Amino acid sequence: MQRSQAIQQVPGNVTRLSGWGANLREDCWLTEPATSANVAEWLDRSGTIARGLGRSYGDAAINGGGQVIGMTRLDRQLSFDEASGTLVCEAGLSLEQIIRDFTPRGWFPMITPGTKFVTVGGCIANDIHGKAHHCQGSFSNCVDELTLLLANGEVVVANRTQNSELFWATFGGMGLLGVVLTATLRLRKIETSYFRQKSLKVADLDAMLQVLEEQDQVFPYSVATLDLFARGPRLGRGVVTVGEHAKRDELPSDLSRDPLRGFPKSRLTVPFDLPDFTLNPLSMRLVNAFIQRVQAGARPLGHFEGFFYPLDKLAHWNRGYGRRGFTQYQFVVPFSDGARCLREILTTIFSAGELPFLNVLKRMGKSTQSALSFPAEGYTLAIDFPMRKNTRALLQRLDAMVLDAGGRIYLGKDSFLDAATFRAMYPATDAWLATKAKYDPQGVFTSNLGRRVGLVAPRPSP
Ligand SMILES: Cc1cc2nc3c(=O)[nH]c(=O)nc-3n(C[C@H](O)[C@H](O)[C@H](O)COP(=O)(O)OP(=O)(O)OC[C@H]3O[C@@H](n4cnc5c(N)ncnc54)[C@H](O)[C@@H]3O)c2cc1C
Repeated sequence: MQRSQAIQQVPGNVTRLSGWGANLREDCWLTEPATSANVAEWLDRSGTIARGLGRSYGDAAINGGGQVIGMTRLDRQLSFDEASGTLVCEAGLSLEQIIRDFTPRGWFPMITPGTKFVTVGGCIANDIHGKAHHCQGSFSNCVDELTLLLANGEVVVANRTQNSELFWATFGGMGLLGVVLTATLRLRKIETSYFRQKSLKVADLDAMLQVLEEQDQVFPYSVATLDLFARGPRLGRGVVTVGEHAKRDELPSDLSRDPLRGFPKSRLTVPFDLPDFTLNPLSMRLVNAFIQRVQAGARPLGHFEGFFYPLDKLAHWNRGYGRRGFTQYQFVVPFSDGARCLREILTTIFSAGELPFLNVLKRMGKSTQSALSFPAEGYTLAIDFPMRKNTRALLQRLDAMVLDAGGRIYLGKDSFLDAATFRAMYPATDAWLATKAKYDPQGVFTSNLGRRVGLVAPRPSP
């Protein structure tokens, strides 16, 4: 990697970084400050981006040939108000650590994605959503305040009344407005670490959408997994899983002795990238059948670990996709035309001969006022694709269908969306760019993703 004059002054190492999908690997200058003062002191003004635990699938937390600020050493808890459940913490703190420390005290993250190995800063930058988006909204709903390091070196407080434009634009802003240093979050009071849950087998897509709608009236948490080998009239067949935090008096006596039990650290790991031949139609059919069986067999009472974070049990599971990596394609389309669009997209995927894999279907609730926040009212489907020769071309065709249906792609998962399609999917981009011009006129905060979708200027050619 060619190191610029400016970067040579900054502590760090050349490190090959990727997103969780590992479909793009780039050499970056990784600087890992341990204090907020160091973040400010070591910021490379020729171009930089913050990085959390690297769980975004694509290139959001990569800045090829430039600086990446690894935030995970900034993980201190600064204060906690036991009466309101308000936690002030540094932005590199992980949800895993919050859960470890606060679940035994009866608190849990208000909103969580499908893995706990994410930082608070990453959750803010992607305005993440969880299985209860239809009734609880996205991460911004549990954040009262941020402190941000801006491009000019100033540290500012942003909340709903002070610097509110900056506050909202930071959610979904992909780290491109500044470095979040600290955040004030509200946690959720829980009586137990268990879930009251049930799963329902569903025969086809129409029934699937109907069951999801009915269950969303009853349960705050809901999610469906499609059987990706069901075609024709059975297209959309799958399992809906719903749940709610269990109350103490709902536990049997053996569990109620330790109602806030934590979870053991996982020892299972995929030690290296598996060879490409391990992913073939037969192995995928077997794993697909296994997943459907596990989902359908959910017990009436389970630990939150199994309900929220089933994939966290296997460390480095992304290596199972091999050296070429994979991508996750997640879109949301409005309810109005959603059924047709889902059917068309699934049919297109199957007829393209790709090997789609893990998937999640959900209903989303209302969007927030953040210009680039992904969640919007409608159906959201996320599907993993191992990278193969035609994967990218297929996803481009799907982009056009999603756009046509009035939907959009989630940048936190995306690797390939082009600038023109992105702009058409996110019509409030101009407002966000005006905020960017105000707070970062020189384009100090930049990333591969930012350049790809046109949120920041391309690099000048050497
Ligand atoms: C198994 C799995 C399940 C997932 N499930 C969901 C889900 O259900 N819902 C959902 O919404 N997402 C989901 N995700 C995606 C994940 O929640 C987001 O990508 C999240 O942002 C990752 O956090 P991170 O700390 O790893 O951030 P990174 O991936 O390292 O970075 C993500 C973005 O945050 C920015 N950033 C990080 N820290 C800071 C900071 N301190 N200041 C400013 N910007 C910062 C980066 O620049 C980048 O743009 C899932 C991911 C995985 C691997």
